[in-house]
Amino acid sequence: MLKKKDSTGWKSIPPGGLVLEAGNAAKYNTGSWKSFRPVFDKSKCINCMLCNVYCPEFCIPVKNGKRGETDLFHCKGCGICAKECPVKCIKMVNESEFSKKSK
Ligand code: SF4
Ligand code: SF4
Repeated sequence: MLKKKDSTGWKSIPPGGLVLEAGNAAKYNTGSWKSFRPVFDKSKCINCMLCNVYCPEFCIPVKNGKRGETDLFHCKGCGICAKECPVKCIKMVNESEFSKKSK
């Protein structure tokens, strides 16, 4: 629970919801919004990078010419990567499956 001094409140939002600090979206855990998580099967991946190109959140990195692990801190679970993957090695899994495992 937020303490009163930690709470930002609506009065601290800039008029018009303007973003006044460049790149500050990187700090926010927008990945907590998702209800489905993309689970990637590395063994089937052909490193075509279509998921990297289509991801609207830029959550799929490329390292040394290979697809890296999904940035779940920012992934919003839209499922575009799973839809576009030509070999269907990304599966969208309900987030509740992961909370069950952590209990
Ligand atoms: S589910 Fe959407 S936001 Fe997440 S990695 Fe795939 S394309 Fe990007
Ligand atoms: S679209 Fe599928 S095959 Fe292509 S890099 Fe992404 S996960 Fe791998």
